[in-house]
Amino acid sequence: MEILTNQSVFQYNTFGIDVKTKYLASFKNIEELKELLQSPLIQEEKKLIIGGGSNVLFTKNYEGVILVNKITGIDIVEENEEHVLVKVGAGENWHEFVMWSINNQYAGIENLSLIPGSVGASPMQNIGAYGVEIKDVFHQLEAVEIKTGNTQVFNHKECAFGYRESVFKNVLKDQFVITSVTYKLNKKPVYNISYGAIKQQLEENNVEDLSIKEVANAVIQIRQSKLPDPQKIGNAGSFFKNPIVSQAKFEELKQKFPEIAHYLLPDSTVKLAAGWLIDNLGWKGKRVNNHGVHSKQALVLVNYGGSSGEDIYNLSEDIIASVKEAYGVELEREVNIY
Ligand code: FAD
Ligand code: NAP
Repeated sequence: MEILTNQSVFQYNTFGIDVKTKYLASFKNIEELKELLQSPLIQEEKKLIIGGGSNVLFTKNYEGVILVNKITGIDIVEENEEHVLVKVGAGENWHEFVMWSINNQYAGIENLSLIPGSVGASPMQNIGAYGVEIKDVFHQLEAVEIKTGNTQVFNHKECAFGYRESVFKNVLKDQFVITSVTYKLNKKPVYNISYGAIKQQLEENNVEDLSIKEVANAVIQIRQSKLPDPQKIGNAGSFFKNPIVSQAKFEELKQKFPEIAHYLLPDSTVKLAAGWLIDNLGWKGKRVNNHGVHSKQALVLVNYGGSSGEDIYNLSEDIIASVKEAYGVELEREVNIY
């Protein structure tokens, strides 16, 4: 395990930001991780765990250690007629794990196809798409505490999952390294195709016999048609979360904006589509120098090449201010800022 100094983070973040980190190292198993955490050179430095770098924005050089998680392995640890418990190394690629589960006929994560990044980051913000969130299939995870090097198991309740949230994104932020995640997948699929454009895409594909593979294919097609490929245009997916407002606030907004995109939630609050709020103010497709708002999805900020994280952050500030002024709603960033 080599600890490198003064390295560019360019290849470790999908936004394509080219700043430096004071130290950089990677680990392939828990023993290597613990050894790194005890290394005198970096013991006192602040630490950041990186998987695929698809949900981070670096606004300046990182004055600490970036540890890249490369723990692999997919193991079935328990099985019955209905379910299978699969323990997955945190450094496995998320989409490749989804494909593995589909090839093995295990259902539950097909709607989460083509989300970039690592398995270890999936509980971090309770990744979600098309009406499914990781919390729906989560069993438990193992994590190493950075300060003590102790291993701890977190069950569902202890992760405190919320909308694009978990305990690791707030109270315990940057305090634990998630080393494996165990998911409970179904042997008998329960399809969730009512969300977004899935049904329409399945019809276009002339699907007669529904299967998890067909659902995954539909999700992949929709995503490829709408979202910028980070290999071609730097981005970190949705930059902002969808705001949730009270019924009273929603009624007030509906008077002024009858077309406002919204979804009633079970607790009677209302989720507003942040993409609609931003698009309605004319931001979609707007380009400032080498960065801007994606032309097909106003929630996604993009780096066309060579922009700084600070520039992109400043654009997000402008969007937040403009949304606040127009609707009186405070947008929250989904992307982790460093
Ligand atoms: P990173 O960017 O490496 O890290 C993100 C955060 O998690 C950081 O704070 C990091 O320190 C922490 N972290 C990472 N790994 C660990 C670990 N092992 N232990 C502790 N902390 C860790 N997200 C969705 O929810 N739904 C989507 O549909 C979706 N679509 C996307 C589409 C595109 C094109 C892109 C670029 C992003 C999208 N995202 C989506 C965001 C992103 O893919 C997810 O948040 C993903 O889980 C990030 O994984 P990562 O390994 O790249 O995390
Ligand atoms: P979309 O289908 O055009 O829908 C726009 C918004 O409306 C989404 O944000 C979604 O909220 C919400 N929505 C749609 N149908 C809904 C329903 N039946 N009930 C409740 N809310 C509904 O969105 P899209 O941009 O193409 O994205 C499709 C899915 O992929 C969404 O779930 C989105 O969250 C996910 N995605 C996430 C990221 C990311 O980086 N986080 C990036 C791309 C796509 P939700 O976002 O709450 O689901």
